[in-house]
Amino acid sequence: MATSTKTPDLDAVVIGAGFAGLYMVHSLRDELGMSAQAYEAGDNVGGTWYWNRYPGARCDSESYMYCFSFDKALMQEWNWSGKYPEQPEILSYLNHVADRFDLRKNIQFNTRVTSAKFDEANNMWEVQTDKGDKVTARFVVTGIGCLSAGQIPNIKGRETFKGDSYHTGSWPHEGVNLAGKRVGVIGTGSSGVQSIPVIAQQAKQLFVFQRTPQYTIPARHGTVDKAFLDDVKSNYDEIWDKARHSTGGFPVDPIDRSALEVSEEERKDIYETAWKEGGFKFVFGSFKDIALDRRANDTASEFIRSKIREIVKDPETAEKLVPVDHPFTSKRALIDTNYFDTYNRDNVTLVDIRHAPIEEITPTGIKTEDAEYELDVIVFATGFDAMTGSYNRIDIRGRDGAALKDKWAGGPKAYLGVASAGFPNLFMITGPGSPSVLSNMPVSIEQHGEWISGVIEYMHEHGQTVIEADQQAETEWVAHVNEIAEQTMFMLADSWYLGANIPGKPRVFMPYPGGVGAYRQKCDEVTAGGYTGFTLGASTREPVGVS
Ligand SMILES: Cc1cc2nc3c(=O)[nH]c(=O)nc-3n(C[C@H](O)[C@H](O)[C@H](O)COP(=O)(O)OP(=O)(O)OC[C@H]3O[C@@H](n4cnc5c(N)ncnc54)[C@H](O)[C@@H]3O)c2cc1C
Repeated sequence: MATSTKTPDLDAVVIGAGFAGLYMVHSLRDELGMSAQAYEAGDNVGGTWYWNRYPGARCDSESYMYCFSFDKALMQEWNWSGKYPEQPEILSYLNHVADRFDLRKNIQFNTRVTSAKFDEANNMWEVQTDKGDKVTARFVVTGIGCLSAGQIPNIKGRETFKGDSYHTGSWPHEGVNLAGKRVGVIGTGSSGVQSIPVIAQQAKQLFVFQRTPQYTIPARHGTVDKAFLDDVKSNYDEIWDKARHSTGGFPVDPIDRSALEVSEEERKDIYETAWKEGGFKFVFGSFKDIALDRRANDTASEFIRSKIREIVKDPETAEKLVPVDHPFTSKRALIDTNYFDTYNRDNVTLVDIRHAPIEEITPTGIKTEDAEYELDVIVFATGFDAMTGSYNRIDIRGRDGAALKDKWAGGPKAYLGVASAGFPNLFMITGPGSPSVLSNMPVSIEQHGEWISGVIEYMHEHGQTVIEADQQAETEWVAHVNEIAEQTMFMLADSWYLGANIPGKPRVFMPYPGGVGAYRQKCDEVTAGGYTGFTLGASTREPVGVS
């Protein structure tokens, strides 16, 4: 029997210092009294909100729910000013959390984890960094982000461009002065839709290179009303409880009304009200079936198309902006501030690269099949190698030296999106196969953090040193995720949820689309069953019983 002989340097290595990494360090160190060391590639905390500093960067979740709930005093003392907080405000919040819980002393910054290898003889991980660190730890917990591996398309001639170019996900900290500049933005996903209206106000001229027109709902951004915040704070327990058991991680009551049950007039009224109110309520608060039933969905898609035609004055530009090739909610739902209005500005030109694709980037700009655009700055709002990119950039090796990257070559495989068979003692916060990017993420991050701490505590109490997802449980879970996805609109678009934005990436739906409430219930059942679908033990090869 292979038994543990060596003692690891640490109980856990945590990778990343965004919401996930911060929470994990706190919970392992302060709640469980364990030794934990985090490594973060950036020079400070914040994750997404450390890197994404582009003009207009903000959160689409309302501020009072885009935060932690693990500490009641923290919830009471922090006051949000923006309804949809801007990047600097979220970054301040995460810095405040790091200071308040003294988390920085267990985070090594400017350090990228390059490899993590499981030592089967000793049931521990050997972790190496680009700064030469080599440590062993019983557990590795990844908080490396679903949207942290930036993606720039491999366009011919990119390196020849003589002007400046930036990816929205690694924007210079000192900002970029765009005044008087001719700017080209490539991409109209979430970062494009947020940045385009703000860049249009700063630049002399803006060319938007659009491949896919988007459905986006007005955010109706504003400041947070003090009375509202006071009310929220006095009902926070109830509000969070609702969010934790909801579909999307927001405290909304489920709607029991079908878009097909009401008259056309009533339906239009409901959409109009939701449009005026703004934000994701258009999705969660209008009808129960717009993300599930194609005919119901058509009514919402058509409503948004009519709004685009109403807002955009030039009919030709409006038609280019109207999405007809995919239904609403099949891609990441977007909310915006003045996005469609921006195309009424004299200094903004929409370039349709679906019909006349980019041929190359030249020293002076961008050349499409039918024109050439002279530019001083190119902004790549081209998104991320979502969900798996940050994993594939680390050499993660499990049993028998097998690489996670190879295991996932045909699409990610993880039980509950938190652990992968063959990779014992490795936990992934918001990994593929969990609600993650389909939810208000702090809710999902905390749920994973709590669940992972619970397992680790349980193992500690039972003297166990190894836990591994069972292959069969994993296979069944992956099939279940796909089965639910098949019933939604998600399969009807080329989206990053499916890996479609990365050439060669397998088309597999990655997040769990069954909702955070159903997912939480499943995780709780797994716990109550003594970690059903996992094998726990003191040795690698001969698991012992869990009681
Ligand atoms: C522009 C944008 C807008 C968003 N808006 C919303 C929203 O409205 N609502 C919502 O719920 N979510 C939103 N998200 C998702 C957002 O990523 C999550 O809400 C949340 O911030 C994720 O936290 P995290 O800690 O899991 O990951 P991240 O914040 O991505 O942090 C991961 C950290 O890990 C580090 N890291 C990665 N690999 C390594 C390595 N090998 N070694 C060391 N460090 C490493 C990275 O540097 C990064 O700092 C948005 C994301 C983006 C990009």
